[in-house]
Amino acid sequence: MSDCLFCKIIAGEIPSAKVYEDELVYAFKDINPIAPVHILIIPKQHISKLEDVNAENSAVISHIFEVAAILSKQLGLKNGFRIVSNCGEDAGQTVFHIHFHLLAGRKLGWEEQ
Ligand code: 5GP
Ligand code: ZN
Repeated sequence: MSDCLFCKIIAGEIPSAKVYEDELVYAFKDINPIAPVHILIIPKQHISKLEDVNAENSAVISHIFEVAAILSKQLGLKNGFRIVSNCGEDAGQTVFHIHFHLLAGRKLGWEEQ
């Protein structure tokens, strides 16, 4: 999608601090981190939000969780980590290209942000 911020990041039109890339997925550091490790993992395919996941596009979502496991090992997140995907207004979604926050490096409370 031409007007999507994260599609522009994937295309390299907007710079980002890449931590992982393969044919399906791109991962980069969040510009406004809320934890010492705060990475966004996104599909290269534009899916707006969790509500739009279906039988046709869900393979990339399971792949994102494989990537999270790979990154957790690469980054040595021995004390654990959290994956968050905000869907819609009440959850605080601000960018409508589905993304999974990988948070780690400090004790995480339950009511974050
Ligand atoms: P949401 O609030 O939609 O769950 O998360 C969007 C995230 O994208 C936020 O944590 C925000 O800091 C991050 N973000 C917004 N714009 C940019 C950007 O241009 N570059 C990077 N690296 N992160 C961004
Ligand atoms: Zn997009």
